[in-house]
Amino acid sequence: MKYMVDLDGVLAEFNRSFAAQLGVPTIPLDDKSWPTKWDWPEDYASPEQLAEVWNTVRASKHFWEDLPAFPWTGEALELLHAEALDGEEVYFVTSREGVDIKRQTERWLSKYGFPEATVLVSTQGDKAGIAHDLDADVMIDDRPEVLTKIREWGKDTLRIYLQVHPYNSTFAIRAAEDYRILPVESPVTAIRSEYARREIYQHDCDVCNGAGTIASVGSCPACHGTGKSKLNGNA
Ligand SMILES: [Mg+2]
Repeated sequence: MKYMVDLDGVLAEFNRSFAAQLGVPTIPLDDKSWPTKWDWPEDYASPEQLAEVWNTVRASKHFWEDLPAFPWTGEALELLHAEALDGEEVYFVTSREGVDIKRQTERWLSKYGFPEATVLVSTQGDKAGIAHDLDADVMIDDRPEVLTKIREWGKDTLRIYLQVHPYNSTFAIRAAEDYRILPVESPVTAIRSEYARREIYQHDCDVCNGAGTIASVGSCPACHGTGKSKLNGNA
């Protein structure tokens, strides 16, 4: 199984650092007055200030590496890392800009619990294309535009989770249902759902005594439903 997991707004709290760079007060996550757009710090600055801050961010060798985590990040990365150790594929996909993005992101992930992560940096911001090319099974992101596009371009079996924030809660309520996108309070909920789903839908092949993990009798890659598997010696 292949996970495709977003960084900013899902695992890393970009806005807090970005607001600090702009000299804008940070708004706590649980504040009811939280703005309804994801890049709200931009509303507090002039185009010139924004350009200056973005130049600073792009030139920094540590801005992305120093981003704060969300309260759930450690547990989410622990669960994802367990999935990776179990043979699942985990891709962290980001559209970040700047110096040494891949390694800054890898070091950040390692610091919060996922060593030797696979990080993909999309300079075109085309996550739908990446999901398609990876043939991803699970996607976790916070941007409605990204997820809507992926829903349109991705395979039918792709399971999409929306990390809910005040800036996307309207989408979560109204549009997510239409696009079969599952709103979650944190990526931990999404990953635990995947654990539960696997327990329900995937089990050891009971025809060849567990040579393959399968969704149904007949789909076992070892015996193809015949029970004759060379792997367990009963062929
Ligand atoms: Mg994001």
